[in-house]
Amino acid sequence: MKKADSDLEYFIEEEKAFADYVPSHFSEVIRDVGFECDLCGKCCTRAFNGHVYLIKEDAAGIFEIDETAVTPSPHFDFCDQNGHFYVSGYSLKTQDDNAGSCIFLRNNRCLIYDRRPLICRIYPYMIHRETDDSGIYDWREISGLNEHGLYGAEIGEKEAAEIFDMTKKYESAYISQEIEFLRAVSDYFDKRNLKHIPKIYDKRIRDFEKGEEVTVFVYYNGAFWEHQMKK
Ligand code: SF4
Repeated sequence: MKKADSDLEYFIEEEKAFADYVPSHFSEVIRDVGFECDLCGKCCTRAFNGHVYLIKEDAAGIFEIDETAVTPSPHFDFCDQNGHFYVSGYSLKTQDDNAGSCIFLRNNRCLIYDRRPLICRIYPYMIHRETDDSGIYDWREISGLNEHGLYGAEIGEKEAAEIFDMTKKYESAYISQEIEFLRAVSDYFDKRNLKHIPKIYDKRIRDFEKGEEVTVFVYYNGAFWEHQMKK
């Protein structure tokens, strides 16, 4: 499948670039910025951060806490000729409030703080490459700079190294999950004579946006799990 092949090529390239990434640079960024959480709760909302994507070990942890707290990740990757979507993993559900607060957020506090997913532990740090508003493709290390929290806190070398280790763990697991998914979806489509059809993808996304129920297959633990989903 063409799209899966080109997506796979992209992630394999990212995996190589990530392996060559220099940690001391990240440490400098962390210590220069000195981010400190002020419990504003903003980062735990869809309005500010889109969705909380779960790497598979985090999805397993959330399933143990509450299996109804997950939903297929909302950025579907593929759509077959039958109008069924495919996506690489789960995200946390959000509440039905204006901000789209995380299902586990109460009074700006996390109900599962000690067991929160890795992405929540490393936020606002990240190590991945993307294109910015001016079209420059480069490493991005801090999300939402100056839009939430406090800055200028003192962060020691040891703490910065711990943040680096956790961020590396998350980013590396994310890339591996994408690569595994792309290989699996390609194989799944080949064996069943399925095709990714962009026109059908666009149409079903419009249907979904209008409130229609759609079928989504989520890749998790080596299999595709079927869900019916409404916006
Ligand atoms: S799990 Fe906790 S820390 Fe993570 S987004 Fe939800 S409320 Fe925030």
